[in-house]
Amino acid sequence: MFAWLKERRRKRLLDDWAIPDAQWQAALHELPFLDHYDAAALARLRELSTLFLVEKNIVSGADDGPHALDVTPLMRIIIAAQACLLILGRDESVTEALHDYGGFDNVVVHPDDFPSTQDYEDEAGVVHTSDEMVLGESLPQGPVLLSWPAVEAGYEDSGMALVIHEFAHKIDLLDGEVDGIPPLHGEARRTFAHAIGAAFDDFRHRVEGDEDTAIDPYAAEDIGEFFAVSCEVFFAEPELLREEYPDYFGELRRYFCIDPVAGRILG
Ligand SMILES: [Zn+2]
Repeated sequence: MFAWLKERRRKRLLDDWAIPDAQWQAALHELPFLDHYDAAALARLRELSTLFLVEKNIVSGADDGPHALDVTPLMRIIIAAQACLLILGRDESVTEALHDYGGFDNVVVHPDDFPSTQDYEDEAGVVHTSDEMVLGESLPQGPVLLSWPAVEAGYEDSGMALVIHEFAHKIDLLDGEVDGIPPLHGEARRTFAHAIGAAFDDFRHRVEGDEDTAIDPYAAEDIGEFFAVSCEVFFAEPELLREEYPDYFGELRRYFCIDPVAGRILG
């Protein structure tokens, strides 16, 4: 489709499918780390979330049976708002920012932990189906899968922002591989890679040394997980990341074009 046609269609959708005010406020109530965001940032987040909800199917992973999960409009908005936080400061136009999430259509919400769908290859080259239970997954060129109780728990209670985590993997995957580096080029890429590399090395050593870290030790797993976990902290507890890894915090701030401490989009 011609870009301008798509743009026009999306503008119309913003009017036709605007999130009702009461529902938007109810969703924000569940995301206290957005309390201090200014009106311009929240208005843009609402528009992005509206388009996200039009373009993505947020469906139940268990439609029937004893553990059936009904995905409500409020649940969809809570997921959309957090997914769109990662693209809030991107690009000039709201409609273009959605391009970062162009490679998939579905978000599947499970009633609980679920078995990983990702196969793995052992040292002998034999491919196994994983039976590991997981809270979330982000499949390359495929859907994002989420366990609703983990989303619902919220960062303040669980120390985890699962939606931000899984969509951070989507951002990382944009340039083809999970390497902890979002799609950046040239000097910007080198600077980012250096900052995340230094932060990850330090964090891994601290976790290996049995230090009790304020950031979830799962981030020491590999650099892709470090990126995803640190994105959670960047948005949900930004002072902590700024304190622990100021250089890397600055790189995330530049990439996302968001100052999460001040709660505003960088102009
Ligand atoms: Zn992960």
